[in-house]
Amino acid sequence: MSDSETEKPLNFLEQAVADDLQSGKHGGRVQTRFPPEPNGYLHIGHAKAICINFGLAKKFGGKCNLRFDDTNPEAEDVEYVDAIREDVRWLGFEWSGEYYASDYFGKLYEHAEALVQMGKAYACELSVDEFKEYRGIPTQPGKEPPGRNRPVEENLDILRRMKAGEFEEGRYVLRAKIDMASPNLHLRDPAVYRIKKVKHHRTGDQWCIYPMYDFAHGLSDEIEAVTHSCCTLEFEVHRPLYEWFLDVLNTPNRPRQYEFARLNLTATVMSKRKLRRLVEEGHVNGWDDPRMPTVSGMRRRGYTAAAIRDFCERIGVAKRENIIDLALLEYCVREDLNKIARRAMAVLDPVKLVIENFPENDTDWLEAANHPNEEGMGTRKIPFTRELYIEREDFLEDPPKKFFRLAPGREVRLRWAYFVTCKEVIKNEKGEIVEIRCSYDPATRGGDAPDGRKVKATLHWVSAAHAKQVPVRLFDRLFTKDNPDEVEEGLDFISNLNPDSLREATAWVEPALLEAKPLDHYQFERVGYFCADKDSKPGAPVFNRTVTLKDSYKPV
Ligand code: ATP
Ligand code: MG
Repeated sequence: MSDSETEKPLNFLEQAVADDLQSGKHGGRVQTRFPPEPNGYLHIGHAKAICINFGLAKKFGGKCNLRFDDTNPEAEDVEYVDAIREDVRWLGFEWSGEYYASDYFGKLYEHAEALVQMGKAYACELSVDEFKEYRGIPTQPGKEPPGRNRPVEENLDILRRMKAGEFEEGRYVLRAKIDMASPNLHLRDPAVYRIKKVKHHRTGDQWCIYPMYDFAHGLSDEIEAVTHSCCTLEFEVHRPLYEWFLDVLNTPNRPRQYEFARLNLTATVMSKRKLRRLVEEGHVNGWDDPRMPTVSGMRRRGYTAAAIRDFCERIGVAKRENIIDLALLEYCVREDLNKIARRAMAVLDPVKLVIENFPENDTDWLEAANHPNEEGMGTRKIPFTRELYIEREDFLEDPPKKFFRLAPGREVRLRWAYFVTCKEVIKNEKGEIVEIRCSYDPATRGGDAPDGRKVKATLHWVSAAHAKQVPVRLFDRLFTKDNPDEVEEGLDFISNLNPDSLREATAWVEPALLEAKPLDHYQFERVGYFCADKDSKPGAPVFNRTVTLKDSYKPV
């Protein structure tokens, strides 16, 4: 840990843990968990929760478990379990234990029977609509559901028959008997178990009743002996219920729930429901489409785990909802890639540059550093020949005052190579420039003039004879509005999709780039950061633009 990190004031969660350690609560133990529901891929918001939970355990020498909250068998699948495990590891975290709420179905069921025995739970026959109607609204007490005062023995009998599969779905729900007049709707006799005749990805056909989130979550924390259960703010109103179950069941462990603000990002949707729609309706090419805010999408695009962790550190942990500028995430990505990405040259919009005084069939292999500050990243050879490509926008026939790049009569440096001077421009019949003719100064090999003369620009280039054309994917924001949900009546976030979020282009790349393997990071000098896509084949890479080189954005 660096000095600046240790000096940083504790956030409110760290403070709570530090206080508990000091007072000896939980016997000096710290245990957290990250509890994803395996019904989708992890996104950048989950990354924040991961950094918080694993970060607390790390900072205070405790444990953090990975617990799959798999109590909704319809939506869940092992595909998601596997993806989540991969993503958490890739983010740089290793869990102490891997658990599943479904591991606890037996124990949870015993708790449910215990509630019934105590007269604290009952079987209710109301339909979903009636359930809501009886529950009422916060400002008025609800109505007493029929069956609320059913004798214990009858409730027990019904619960056991629910478990045995004797009833169809919806016929009964087991409810906690709390308070139909509570101003907190979550305490108006919440459901504890419902019948679902659905096969579970882990327990198969063993169960046809499944516990509700509020019941399963806190008690799973308890079973695992979690000390600090951190979740997002929307669960704050569930906390009294979380505690009610622990109190009434008088459990040996007392986890405590803490709530922090969820991450919201501009021009991004984050709920799994919306992300699933993007995938299922084909607006993107899968959960790991590089435009998706999923961990797998960001990885494929070329974001690094270090950049994502840095971002989570910078946004901090607060108790109030806010919206973070996507540009901050991109800033963090640039910061990290600047340190680790190999440099290479690629031209996206080529125009031919012919060096008149360079011999026709010669190749001069020049040495280029792979990183400006990291000598350990080595060097590579790049071929220099009579015909090159440069970027079309790097030449102007009639340059304005502030344009220092190539123009008629002007001398510039070609990166790692020579000074060249523009002699002539050749156009086709439509008046478009097809060729720029230059001379080079052999004395400037490597990029410096022995007489000390300076040039104002350095251009990237590739040898026309050696350059290979490879596909590049240029991404832009997935949504045109900062708030994708800001729509006219009758429309939804889909209407704010950016039609130009993916542009397929071609790059003329230097030979070294043909060796790129999936997930290799590069800076195409002066063009942007790129990452080889998983669609790359040996010798035939496909590149994703991770992020452009610059942005006016500066973090505050
Ligand atoms: P979503 O709304 O995207 O479907 P979720 O809360 O239903 O998310 P879970 O798999 O249940 O998804 O979430 C696992 C953990 O990640 C929870 O503790 C949840 O609070 C946290 N989490 C989810 N979204 C965010 C977010 N945007 N910012 C921070 N934490 C989040
Ligand atoms: Mg959830």
